[in-house]
Amino acid sequence: MSDLDYNKLLKKVQSITSTKSVDEDRFKVPKADIFYEGNTTVLRNFDKIIDTLNREANHLLKFFLGSIGTAGETSGGRIIFQGKIPARTIQDKLVEYVDTYVLCSECNRPDTHLVKKGRTILIRCDACGAFRSIGSMKKKMMKTPHETLKEGSIYELTIKDIGKRGDGVAFFDKYVIYIPGSVKGSMVKVKIEKISGTVAFGRIVQ
Ligand SMILES: [Zn+2]
Repeated sequence: MSDLDYNKLLKKVQSITSTKSVDEDRFKVPKADIFYEGNTTVLRNFDKIIDTLNREANHLLKFFLGSIGTAGETSGGRIIFQGKIPARTIQDKLVEYVDTYVLCSECNRPDTHLVKKGRTILIRCDACGAFRSIGSMKKKMMKTPHETLKEGSIYELTIKDIGKRGDGVAFFDKYVIYIPGSVKGSMVKVKIEKISGTVAFGRIVQ
């Protein structure tokens, strides 16, 4: 590389870092650019998000699919999710991902990388040198009451749809609940009889 090229490069780097420092106080989570195609949801700027967060595409993809509870794949720098996922849900998951896997909990900067130690994943901050384990972060997040479905408990649910076999379908957090003998649009009290993964079966109680 000639000196000229080197200087050009240096200037370029300096201009990038100086614009970045304008609002370095709070890292802005990239905005998910969503559109719908048939019965799929497309995250158009996935490659840019990966670039900004400096994380592996596969890691974020798995996080999205696991936490949203849908199937999907990457294609040409985009993610194509099965089903219509509200843009808000995807953005919320992205914020959750950034909080868990990207931001340093000490200095709040995104200049971090993940380190695997056995079965534990650590996040190490390149800016301040702090370490934290993702596991302990997850435990913290578990403390905030998350809606969970319990077998034997009763919930008030709205029947949003009718499944292929004629059962009513309701949604609760990540769960899809099938309720025989219910009418679309009605609000019913349902006793959860069985949960299998993210699918549950219930019965109307009075
Ligand atoms: Zn830090």
